[in-house]
Amino acid sequence: MRESYPFELIALQYEYDALEPCIDEETLHYHHDRHLQTYVDNLNKTLKDYPKLHCMNLPTLLVNIYSLPDEIQTAVKNNGGGVFNHNLYFSILRSPREDNRPSGELADSINAKFGSFEGFKKALSSAAVGQFGSGYGWLVTDRHGKVSVMSAPNQNTPLGRETMPLIPLDVWEHAYYLQYKNKRGEYTENFFKLINWEQVEKLYKNRENFFK
Ligand code: MN
Repeated sequence: MRESYPFELIALQYEYDALEPCIDEETLHYHHDRHLQTYVDNLNKTLKDYPKLHCMNLPTLLVNIYSLPDEIQTAVKNNGGGVFNHNLYFSILRSPREDNRPSGELADSINAKFGSFEGFKKALSSAAVGQFGSGYGWLVTDRHGKVSVMSAPNQNTPLGRETMPLIPLDVWEHAYYLQYKNKRGEYTENFFKLINWEQVEKLYKNRENFFK
């Protein structure tokens, strides 16, 4: 998988029906094959004539957005964010589990911040459901492993010197509307069954690499 220009569509690590019934096959096809592909194509189009940027990986481009040429900042923010956010989203999902919870150090940090796993679920759900229009609810961590929840509009990515994204809860209508219509809350509730906590914990444990 290339990490710099030209960016490629990531392959899913599971079958298109693997997330059913929480996310159906048709939704996953549209979301991955069409929507993500469009972000990838538009990001590549945007960067095509800027060879100096071709060696930069996506987090570097996004963190340094304001040092890029003015005329491509918005397009990189929207399409680069779209690629980064979706790559993360698709990589932290797996087939549904009923009692799906984190463990270890990450679970401790979540409990310390939100009081309990239920408290965390409530916080991330409200961030996602309450996001006006398109965007995401996010679980993020700082370099010390302190987690928090936030929401962000559009394809804005909470990447920063002190913030590493862990879980993007995509609440763009393209993520759920085919299956759930206007029931964003129901989709959000089911999303929690799909989180691959082992994968999220791996990211969390490797945060030193991100913050170095
Ligand atoms: Mn999406």
